[in-house]
Amino acid sequence: HTASVIDPRKILHDVFGFPSFREGQEEIVRAVLSGEDVLAIMPTGAGKSLCYQLPTLAREGLTLVVSPLIALMRDQVAALRHFGIEAGSLNSANDPDENRRVVDSVRDGRMRILYASPERLANTGTTEWLGRSGVNLLAIDEAHCVSQWGHDFRPEYAMLGDVRRRLGNVQTIALTATADVATRGDIMHRLFEEEPRLFIHGFDRPNLRLAMQAKEHARRQLFSFLDKHRHESGIVYCSSRDATEKLADSLSQAGYRALPYHAGMPQGERAKNQDIFLQEDGVVMVATVAFGMGIDKPDVRFVAHAALPKSIEAYYQEIGRAGRDGAPADTLTLYGLDDMRLRRLQIEDSDAADEQKRVERQRLNALVALCEAPRCRRQTLLAYFGETTEPCGNCDLCIEGVMSFDGTIEAQKILSA
Ligand code: ADP
Ligand code: MG
Ligand code: ZN
Repeated sequence: HTASVIDPRKILHDVFGFPSFREGQEEIVRAVLSGEDVLAIMPTGAGKSLCYQLPTLAREGLTLVVSPLIALMRDQVAALRHFGIEAGSLNSANDPDENRRVVDSVRDGRMRILYASPERLANTGTTEWLGRSGVNLLAIDEAHCVSQWGHDFRPEYAMLGDVRRRLGNVQTIALTATADVATRGDIMHRLFEEEPRLFIHGFDRPNLRLAMQAKEHARRQLFSFLDKHRHESGIVYCSSRDATEKLADSLSQAGYRALPYHAGMPQGERAKNQDIFLQEDGVVMVATVAFGMGIDKPDVRFVAHAALPKSIEAYYQEIGRAGRDGAPADTLTLYGLDDMRLRRLQIEDSDAADEQKRVERQRLNALVALCEAPRCRRQTLLAYFGETTEPCGNCDLCIEGVMSFDGTIEAQKILSA
């Protein structure tokens, strides 16, 4: 299948219409084209999809993409078809016509990029049929879902190693925005027999302004941040469903167009709020972490956390939903020493295995260290992901120096408790 490889840059221009590769993309594309297995770790919005889509077009054959979200698959398929590429998806929401189109297209070899949910691939009949049809590349998107230590574990993902074997040990590229070392190890171990080439790229998002503050007068801190962003689109993450509704109410009273979003809302209302956020300008989505995966709105101008995020990965993924268009975007994370103390107790009191507790403890320590960073917050953040940089000039610590509030000693007490 590798006989006639078309120049990747030509495809980038001619098919996708992009003038240049983003950081990391070209190396990954070339590694895939040379037949290597790849684990690519790039943040949300960095352009991971291109890393399997482009190589598919540069050679022959079918690429099977595993993706956990139906909405995400639909967007990708629509985008590919818009570029004139034969693409489709197999998922539980397909109607019979769509299924037939997909099956015919795979059968007569026209299909180039097929998305499937892990549930569909758990069906050995489907996998065997695909194996017989000839899959040239397996792309596993959101690969952190294989890891029990990740923030989004999906049991069906754990079986993808088997799927890969049933497809004849097909060349595989796994992609995720989660760079956490424990999760990375899990991905390697569960999906690959031999170590894949590892790429970690593009974690720096220089247009995101970073700021973290210990909660003193949480409401005042949050409102003064939001006041700087009146009439802009943004997200405020809250730690509970109840909190999203209350905050959305008080923001509405303060004249914002604010809507709640959480998994406990009726499906219809949730979808409606999401549509409004995507389509209108200047909407503040007040959400739990249930909101955001697969959301591609380029002009989100701010993300605030009303409470400590779950981990550095979660934090970065969540703030990463701002400023995807590359224009300046602002973030603020409020953390409470009580939040930290509570997390610490939850870890110790849980029934988790010691190994898991150790991982969780390390993660919490890293998160606290970021909150209490002595100098450039971006340096601390990127160091966690394995990248080194100069002081950024675009974080609270570079701009204002260390906060007057001294939470450091308190935080250390909590960690050493
Ligand atoms: P990720 O999966 O890493 O979150 P996506 O693959 O969804 O990111 O890409 C995010 C956006 O970036 C998409 O709109 C995509 O079309 C765009 N994109 C990807 N690569 C490039 C590029 N080289 N130049 C310009 N835009 C790009
Ligand atoms: Mg993606
Ligand atoms: Zn900085």
